[in-house]
Amino acid sequence: MATGLVHLILFLILLFRRGKGTGEKLALLYMGLALLWIVALTLANLETIFLPVVTRSGNALIPGLVLALAVGYLLCAAFFLDYPFWPIAATAGYTWTVILIGATVYFLLFPPPLLPLDSIHTASWVAVTLTTVALLALSLFRSRLAFRRNRALYWLVTANALVAGQALTLLPAGPLRMVGPLVHLLGAIALTRGALTFWLPNVKAVLRSAFRFCFLFAATAALLAGVVLAVEYLTTRWAMPPTTLVVLLAVGVALIYLPLYQGLARLVDRLLSGVGFDPAQALRDYSQTISPVLDLEQLARTAVQTVAQVLDIQRGALLVVSETERGGLLLRPVPALGEVPTDPIELEPISPILVRLKEQDDPLFQYEVEHHPVLKEALRREREALEALEMEIYLPIRAEGELVGLLALGPQRTGEPYSSRMVEFLATLAQQTGVALQNARLFVGLQELNERITLLNESLKAAYERLERLDRAKSDFLSLASHELRTPLTQIRGYTDILADLASSDMLTQEQVAHLARNLAQPVRRLERIINTLMDASQLDVGMSFRFAPTNLAGVIRMAIEPWLPALKERNLTLNTSGLESIPMIRADTDRLVQAFSNLISNAIKFTPDGGRITIEAHPLDEEHFEVTVADTGIGINKADQELIFEKFYRVGRIDLHSSGDYKFKGGGPGLGLSIVRGIIEGHGGCIWVESEGYDEERCPGSVFHVVLPYHGHRGPCRWKRPGQGE
Ligand code: ADP
Repeated sequence: MATGLVHLILFLILLFRRGKGTGEKLALLYMGLALLWIVALTLANLETIFLPVVTRSGNALIPGLVLALAVGYLLCAAFFLDYPFWPIAATAGYTWTVILIGATVYFLLFPPPLLPLDSIHTASWVAVTLTTVALLALSLFRSRLAFRRNRALYWLVTANALVAGQALTLLPAGPLRMVGPLVHLLGAIALTRGALTFWLPNVKAVLRSAFRFCFLFAATAALLAGVVLAVEYLTTRWAMPPTTLVVLLAVGVALIYLPLYQGLARLVDRLLSGVGFDPAQALRDYSQTISPVLDLEQLARTAVQTVAQVLDIQRGALLVVSETERGGLLLRPVPALGEVPTDPIELEPISPILVRLKEQDDPLFQYEVEHHPVLKEALRREREALEALEMEIYLPIRAEGELVGLLALGPQRTGEPYSSRMVEFLATLAQQTGVALQNARLFVGLQELNERITLLNESLKAAYERLERLDRAKSDFLSLASHELRTPLTQIRGYTDILADLASSDMLTQEQVAHLARNLAQPVRRLERIINTLMDASQLDVGMSFRFAPTNLAGVIRMAIEPWLPALKERNLTLNTSGLESIPMIRADTDRLVQAFSNLISNAIKFTPDGGRITIEAHPLDEEHFEVTVADTGIGINKADQELIFEKFYRVGRIDLHSSGDYKFKGGGPGLGLSIVRGIIEGHGGCIWVESEGYDEERCPGSVFHVVLPYHGHRGPCRWKRPGQGE
């Protein structure tokens, strides 16, 4: 009766619980079935009160209800251990149970039974029970983290009590059957507790205390029994009044009892919970060791190793905490023991895990992350990242009230969950780490800052050098331009003087005029070219204008080569072309492209010694682009200059060694040619670069100018990515 009442109370507690989750609903179902089962038991057992037909019905229904209970517990165990198949098990299990109960009722009404119903019931019950136990055992052996094992163990112990209770009631009526509900009640209390709170007691510790209690209880009882027997024995031997003897023995026993009890208790504790340690000493040593540590990794190692001296752990890390721009937290693991993933974990500003860490000082258990009703709601990504660390406990490290880190520790090798005494010790240890961690973080920050400043310095230096070169180029340009302009001007001046002299002496023949005019035309053309170049260059900054029209590459290159044929001949240079015909019609500004390639050819002529070779090749690159290369066997270009030569006014070499002339070896211009070429190519949506082993007048390694152009010229940036150049 009393057990039935307690079952009812448990049922009501579950029933009136607000905001029931699936776990609580499953537990409620179980307790509901348990109540029916107890009713059936009561009917079956109270033969004297009820009619025989009632007793018979109760008896007949017991196996079916026991089976329903077994299925109910299978569902609870599967749900609480996160096996996803419990809904299928529910459907299958209950369908079968209803069939069996239906059959039982049928045969009750229309006896005799045709089937061995009892055996079918028992076999089904055994199958379901074995499945449950196997499931729990699997979970127990598979879990590496102590709290998961504890959870599996909890449900396994609960299962034992429930199953034993159920099994006893399958026996024929008798006293053992009466004990069934009582044993079951213990399991039912555990089941209700497990469904209502996510924190479970440390099962091993509870079992240990039970064992300790029983052992000390038995030892005390044995001692008292010994005293009584001794009194009995000695009164027959010694001529002493029994009262005196009892008093003497009582005093003797009292003298030895307390030390004996304490000694035994300590022995049992030692045997059960392993070695003891002195937390105060450990903490003192720790704070002395860490105070001078400035390196994060070393700090992590020292902290975890100190813990490892006291506890037998296999994993540990320091999670360095920093705020993200969005107000979340970034946990950066610094591994110290075992292989710990180092990917930073980002917690969203509204993450319940973040709120819990920031607002509560208590250590956070991985168990809470997985089972706490609120923390379970955290983003899957956050929970999985923490799970991947395979830690058991996270101890907040604070400095000036701010969360600066977490000391993360893995499970103990013994498989024991952390005891509350140990958690207290670890929390103090984490607290002591705060200042050291803050210092180490500042130190790392300073180091990073230092590295950034060094990098910045280097790039400033490079920029300065580049500016210096360009500045030099600009001033070189002034002297060069004046030189370039003066040469044709002097020539013109000379001819105009001659013209004036001859005109005054009236000696000019027709032929002489023609000759003078021809000679005058050359420097004028040169002046014109220089001025055109300067004008083109002045357009570079504002953007050149182009007239795109269909044209073909072979024609463009032919026109670019033509003016240089006499120069090629004079300098004994060979020029070959190949692949030009493989490029279909293109859309481009023909004149500008001719100008660009003409410039490249003129450079190739100028920087290749007599007898050298110039090769122009073309080939398609992708659907949108083709490439033209202009290669020579000339003096080459140093790597340091390969970018700069495309800048305005930049020229390589010394200005005083400059020889002017359109196609003389090493004859230079004003350093504008390549910048104009680049302007034209980029103005077509193409790109240009040069490759050369370096500058060497002896070896002549040559240079290759690569020009990539789109088939359909456009004003946008080049869409072709040079291999190896990244974004
Ligand atoms: P310039 O008008 O003086 O020729 P460019 O802009 O055409 O100026 O060229 C810049 C510099 O690049 C040249 O002074 C030369 O030193 C170098 N250069 C250009 N083309 C070649 C080449 N094919 N071989 C070696 N050096 C070259």
